[in-house]
Amino acid sequence: MMCRVTGLRDHFKSYSILKIIDKYNNINFTSRRNCVVCSSSLDDPLIVLPEFPLTELYVPFKNTQKTAVLDQEFYLCRKCGLGQLKNLVSGELLYSDGYVTRTSTSSSATAAIHQFTEFIDEILPDGKLDAIFDIGCNDNYLIKQFAQRSHNLFGNDPIIDSRVEDYKESQLTLIGDFFENIDFDTLGVNIDCFLCSHTLEHIVDPASFLSKALDAGNENTLYFFQFPGLEGMIRDAHFDQIFHQHFNYFSLKSIQYLLSKLGGELIDYRVNAYHWNSLMIAFRKTQTPAVNQIFFSDTCKTILNKPFILRQYELFKQSMKITSNRLKSLNNERILGYGAALMLPVLDYHLEDGLSNVEAIIDEDLSKVGKYYLNVPIQIISTKMAGRLEDSIVLLTAINSTDASRKIIPKLIDLKFRQIIIPLNLI
Ligand SMILES: [Zn+2]
Repeated sequence: MMCRVTGLRDHFKSYSILKIIDKYNNINFTSRRNCVVCSSSLDDPLIVLPEFPLTELYVPFKNTQKTAVLDQEFYLCRKCGLGQLKNLVSGELLYSDGYVTRTSTSSSATAAIHQFTEFIDEILPDGKLDAIFDIGCNDNYLIKQFAQRSHNLFGNDPIIDSRVEDYKESQLTLIGDFFENIDFDTLGVNIDCFLCSHTLEHIVDPASFLSKALDAGNENTLYFFQFPGLEGMIRDAHFDQIFHQHFNYFSLKSIQYLLSKLGGELIDYRVNAYHWNSLMIAFRKTQTPAVNQIFFSDTCKTILNKPFILRQYELFKQSMKITSNRLKSLNNERILGYGAALMLPVLDYHLEDGLSNVEAIIDEDLSKVGKYYLNVPIQIISTKMAGRLEDSIVLLTAINSTDASRKIIPKLIDLKFRQIIIPLNLI
């Protein structure tokens, strides 16, 4: 006979599992009808992704039902060159149960911050600044790089709210709220430099967001933003980088279009080829309108056009098809995945039979070990749990960041897997 307490515990456990599954079976979302940069109406979608999975949902139970999926469409605005999603999942759902990503614990994210910092250092004038503000500061890894440049460092991030004790720093003022809600008049200083790393792509209304940032500065304020670059994603056929959490896919053309519209001007830019082909941009309030429009004329013709994008998407699908066929041909062998990446459900989605013949996903992050993805029923295990690897085949399952993929490959070689499969044929 089952113990009464154990029985109740099991009852509540299965009740909470059902509650989670139910929550992600009724996804709350809004739909865009017009481009969020230039207001043109969205014409036909370039890419249609039916029942596209949400990402970053690690759970302690195995779920084999189709859960946490939503139809998605990807558009390119012909007028301003913005790539964008049609359906925007509510932030409440996207960030409520998800894994909280901390920049400082991800080696590819810290490498991207260092590249960004180098770019900023080349443009920032020498000497102390009055104040630096990091929009969406995460765990302060970026703003801390500027500790010597100002006595007034500010950062905001809604994730700070519940963990404010973790973030106490003497010269740093942290605001646990969305940027949109901050009253800059209450800060009592002039911000001469705004930083913003990998935030703009998540914003529902990037025009109001940038407008607020420009309003909060003065004529001399410098702005440094970085976000995934659309041109690089298309050129590399890296369409696995399209996912529900990135609402906006800015190209150089579209960001410059938006800045001009809002009274800003691009000063310089650089691309980080190793991390999402990120565009690192520097801008300020418009001082010399005549220099606008010079940056993007070439890419616009060759990359941001519909036939080229569709051809590249076909190339991506062919890579996925080859990987699917290879996995099928190795059906009788032991196949393991390596890298319990946040976006693994997207790889699972694009492969023909998903990751169905992958036995488990190996990851070094012990906080993930033992868990599953809500929408991919494969367990995450440690290297030790995987046992003997010499006769096994490994599929690289962390493919979104080139830098992260390059760091994993030597580990896979050291672990002496019999064979390594790289799904995108490109790192
Ligand atoms: Zn547009």
